[in-house]
Parts: sequence; structure tokens; C-alpha cells
Amino acid sequence: MTEIKGKTALVTGASKGIGKAIALALAKEGVHIGVNYHSDAGSAENLCKQIEGLGAKAIPIKADVSDAASVSVMVQEVEENLGPVEILVNNAGIAHKDELENITEADWDRVIDTNLKSAFLVTQACIGTMKQQQWGRIINISSVAAQTGGVTGPLYAASKAGMIGLTHSYALFLINDGITANAITPALIETDMVKELKASPDKIPMGRFGQPNEVADAVIMLVKNAYMTGQTVGVNGGLYFS
Ligand code: NAP
Repeated sequence: MTEIKGKTALVTGASKGIGKAIALALAKEGVHIGVNYHSDAGSAENLCKQIEGLGAKAIPIKADVSDAASVSVMVQEVEENLGPVEILVNNAGIAHKDELENITEADWDRVIDTNLKSAFLVTQACIGTMKQQQWGRIINISSVAAQTGGVTGPLYAASKAGMIGLTHSYALFLINDGITANAITPALIETDMVKELKASPDKIPMGRFGQPNEVADAVIMLVKNAYMTGQTVGVNGGLYFS
């Protein structure tokens, strides 16, 4: 299994929820973390202190992952403070629950830009140094909505399905560069997003919400494995079998 101690990761949307759990799990393995956030500076700063308490380095970085200029500054900040990004977790995302008839063009652009364009922009900004080093891990946090349509509606499902297409393309494109790309499709993980959607665990075969650390465990497995690429790993309590 690959040793990851001392490597540098960038986790987008790491101020809370699944991203926070992923950042902590990587830090426990001795990985230094760029903690990206959008609005919640206090939570990102607290997380950095927690990571430093685990013996790894961390910096909070405010950036809107849907904006190319913001992404470029974010990646530069990580590189200057922690070194080249070797592990990238495209996690930042938003949900927009609405009926097909009510979704506006502005809604479409906001969700697709935040959830999907971001996974293109951030990866593009990190890929040069990963290729130079001939080592890298890209993990895209998609959703079971990509596979089932989900309860959140067509806009969210399309954004998350696009991430799986990106994952396949990255895996193939980077196959001989020591870089793997995989997607994780969680479902219903107990975070603010799920609380805001007022989702219920009733339809989950295991009868409970998943926990953010259960997604983080899958990230660690994928980061340590050099032979798995182009895969979609479900963390969904049995909601969808693939
Ligand atoms: P969450 O608790 O709402 O956290 C979302 C994170 O994304 C926050 O850190 C937020 O930062 C950040 N973010 C939002 N817009 C951003 C932007 N434009 N630029 C940078 N960061 C931004 O959500 P979560 O449940 O942990 O979800 C994390 C990921 O997992 C999302 O991609 C979500 O779609 C996916 N997912 C979640 C579930 C679930 O059941 N929870 C299931 C499937 C997939 P600030 O707080 O600083 O604004």
C-alpha cells in the first residue's frame, strides 16, 4: 500500500461536513492539507488548528471553486505554503432541490459551475505538477443522484453525473502518469446539506444516515491504492448497487 505521510492534499469545501472529515482523515495519515472554504472562515481556521494538533501542516484558503481566477490563486497559495498538490479531493458542492418546471437558467449555471465546472478548473490547475512528479490522486465526490436521479432533482443529478464522466476521462488521460482518478458516490450522509434538504433515512436499506467519516474512509482507501482508477465507489447504505 502506498505511503502518503508527508504528501500535500487540497480538499475543496473542507470547512464542514464530508470535506472536513476527509481533511481530518488525511491529516491523521500525516498529509498536509489546503483547507478550502467559501464563506465559513471560522470553521476552516478551527479545522486547521485541529490538523496542526495531529502533527500535519494546514492552511485555510478562501476561494470560490466555480471561478477560474479564484482557483488559480488558491492552488498557488497551497503550492507556496505546503508544496505541490499531490492529492486533490474535489468535494465542494451545493444542492438545489426544485421541480423541473421551476429551475431557472441562473440556477442551472450556479449548480453546474459549483459542482462540475469546479472539478475541471481545480484539477486543471493541479495537473501540471502532478504530471511533473509522476504521482497524483484525484478523488471526485459525486453522489448517488448521478446513478439513480436522486431526490434532489435533475440539476443536481446532472452536475454529479458529469463528475463521473470527468473521472473516466481523467483516469484514461493520466493512466501512464502515476495518477489515478476515482469518484465516490455518497448517499445520505448526515451533514448540513442533508439537514437543509430535510431528507429522511427511511428509504436507505440500512435504515440510517451515513457519517462523514464513512466517506473519508473510502477516500483513504483510494488514495493508498495505486491500481484502482476510473472507478465509482458507492458509500450509500445499500441504496444503489453497482
Ligand atoms: P455541506 O455540509 O453543505 O458542505 C459544503 C462545503 O462546500 C462547505 O465547506 C462549503 O463552504 C463548500 N462550498 C460551497 N460552495 C462553494 C464554492 N463555490 N467554493 C468553495 N467551497 C464551496 O455539504 P456536504 O454534505 O458535506 O457535501 C460535500 C460534498 O458531498 C458535496 O459535493 C455534495 O454534493 C456531496 N454529497 C453529499 C451527500 C450528503 O448526503 N451529504 C451525498 C452525496 C454527495 P462554506 O461552508 O465555507 O461556504
